[in-house]
Amino acid sequence: MQAAPVRAKVMAVTREADYQVRFWGVRGSIAAPGTGTARYGGNTSSIEVRCGNRLILLDAGTGMRYLGNRLAAEIPLDADIFFTHSHFDHVCGLPFFKPFFQPRNAFRLWAGHLEAGMTLHKVLHEFMMAPLFPVSPGVFAAKMEFRDFKAGETLAPGPGIVVRTAPLNHPNGATGYRIEYGGKSVCYVTDTEHVPGTPDRNVLALIAGADIVIYDCMYTDEEFAKSYVGWGHSTWQEGLRLCKAAGAKRLVVFHHDPDRADDQLDAIGREAAAALPGSVVAREGLTLAP
Ligand SMILES: [Zn+2]
Ligand SMILES: [Zn+2]
Repeated sequence: MQAAPVRAKVMAVTREADYQVRFWGVRGSIAAPGTGTARYGGNTSSIEVRCGNRLILLDAGTGMRYLGNRLAAEIPLDADIFFTHSHFDHVCGLPFFKPFFQPRNAFRLWAGHLEAGMTLHKVLHEFMMAPLFPVSPGVFAAKMEFRDFKAGETLAPGPGIVVRTAPLNHPNGATGYRIEYGGKSVCYVTDTEHVPGTPDRNVLALIAGADIVIYDCMYTDEEFAKSYVGWGHSTWQEGLRLCKAAGAKRLVVFHHDPDRADDQLDAIGREAAAALPGSVVAREGLTLAP
């Protein structure tokens, strides 16, 4: 009679440790190293997600280089890389990712924001092209597979993992993701601009009841209204409003403005946590379990 409850408890603990999110780059637009950004980090978007023994990477900003240095010891790797979009700050870490140079590794690269006629393969080959860049993706030794989809589709990158997607409001398009695994969900919603007073329905549907929502918090509401309407980004206050409206549990403030100092992020983190307990500001090295 006593065996069942004990077993249930062990399973719950295992599942929690099984699903992890780790931040390697949290900055928006351009890398911003320096004394004012040292605590939260200056690298651009790169996130590592572990669903059991499956590895998922979100975006390929400058933080991806450090992630690659860590992963280089884990061969052979088999992983899925999901791109929100192909703006430079989200792809510029790709050529410096060591696991791409290891022949036993295999990667599937996914994007859902491109217009008809354009493919992720083409975009990445044009970005790694002389005289902008000295070598082409042909130098990569790993198996690389490019998968284009249309934002809104539901993807199944591995057993027990469901990835829902939605189009975001950003110049040249972007895709928001919701990764569901083991009964938990993590959403990655960057880069996107909101319309004040009109919550984005696509985002609300994507993040409904989610455990963690990583959101484009480039600006404050004040900065946005004064100077940044039309720039394609959102605010941490809008992130909170969306989470509350959608019944999401925790906001992760992400895609920090390159000029946002650590002390300002401390203050934003305090306010966000007071408004929605458990909410945090993303920093390099932060690891969360949904
Ligand atoms: Zn960006
Ligand atoms: Zn962008």
